[in-house]
Amino acid sequence: MTEDQFETLAIHAGQEPDPTTGAVVVPIYATSTYAQQSPGVHKGYEYSRTDNPTRTALQVQLAALEGVGETDDGGCVATASGMAATAMIGYLLKPGDHIVLPDDAYGGTFRIVSEVFADHGISWTAGDLTTVGGIQAATTDRTKVIWVETPTNPLLRIVDIAVAAEVAKACGAWLVVDNTFASPYLQQPLALGADMVLHSSTKYLGGHSDTVGGAIITNDQDLHERLRYLQNATGPVPGPFDSYLVLRGVKTLALRMDRHCHNAAAIAQFLVDDARVADVWYPGLPTNPGYSVARNQMTGFGGIVSFTPSGGDDAARSIVERTRLFFLAESLGGVESLIEIPALMTHLSVEGTDLEVPSNLVRLSVGVEHVDDLISDLDRALG
Ligand SMILES: *Cc1c(COP(=O)(O)O)cnc(C)c1O
Repeated sequence: MTEDQFETLAIHAGQEPDPTTGAVVVPIYATSTYAQQSPGVHKGYEYSRTDNPTRTALQVQLAALEGVGETDDGGCVATASGMAATAMIGYLLKPGDHIVLPDDAYGGTFRIVSEVFADHGISWTAGDLTTVGGIQAATTDRTKVIWVETPTNPLLRIVDIAVAAEVAKACGAWLVVDNTFASPYLQQPLALGADMVLHSSTKYLGGHSDTVGGAIITNDQDLHERLRYLQNATGPVPGPFDSYLVLRGVKTLALRMDRHCHNAAAIAQFLVDDARVADVWYPGLPTNPGYSVARNQMTGFGGIVSFTPSGGDDAARSIVERTRLFFLAESLGGVESLIEIPALMTHLSVEGTDLEVPSNLVRLSVGVEHVDDLISDLDRALG
């Protein structure tokens, strides 16, 4: 059986040629409603908040890539953004429930948990989840969700997913893995024991910085049905055009990720070897504390590299102002390289908290341009 390899599923899962025309690309079904033959008698589609064929194709594709086939338990719900997916995890919880977060969680995740969920009676603890003791120390007898990002953003710490899954199981909590940084091509958390995988498809899945989206994939049928219910009841669905953009982006995910990983590894080594750079964070460096776990649970180390220049805050600011190929912008995971200072941009909302990152940390989202050009750009910007 070779038809279930990742690259093949990315192009074929949920994407049969259109039955009426033979179109090989799933059409953008720009329709809100569907004609019925008789009340309640229809072709499986009633109203596009509930289901839309372009979104269905995307959901089948993403589920397949996280290891959940069409005849398996579970599935995918696509959402209008990664944060809409995170909000939906919140809808699964009740007042009194508790969430464990990594202490360098994505800023928006930290914000929704601490500012929004907290107002609904859900408490939280942020901790170092890179050790089993750290995960256990953060849990309480009310813990309902252990939230893992691996690699984390922007310090690229690695959490052992199988270990986190054991702790979650022991305390009756769900393990949710935000798999945005790795993408399913490099890491498949459900196979390692996670209950739900969350994505910001804005990043590597879409891959071209031209749309915002999210998804939750689970291999638990009850959870999937609950999420499907919530998707329809709360309505944070991606439109058909956005669904199409992610569906199209994912077709080349494997090709892009290979290049992102290749370029990022070369850039991390260039930075390590450069005296103008103080520290480098990349899980593919054998000196990185997460290296061996990353090597076990990932098939590549990803496209994000963080570093601190030897010169402090002013040096960081002048580097990000001087690159030409690396655009100074938030976000990550697109074909074009981006550079930013998390403390001033993506991670502003964690200033003054335990989740704070070094103020002169520079984060690179290494794109798929030629690596020599990217290294020249950084070399010039380092001054
Ligand atoms: C971007 C991002 C999110 C949020 O996704 P949006 O699509 O921006 O709403 C969540 N987690 C991680 C790791 C991200 O990078």
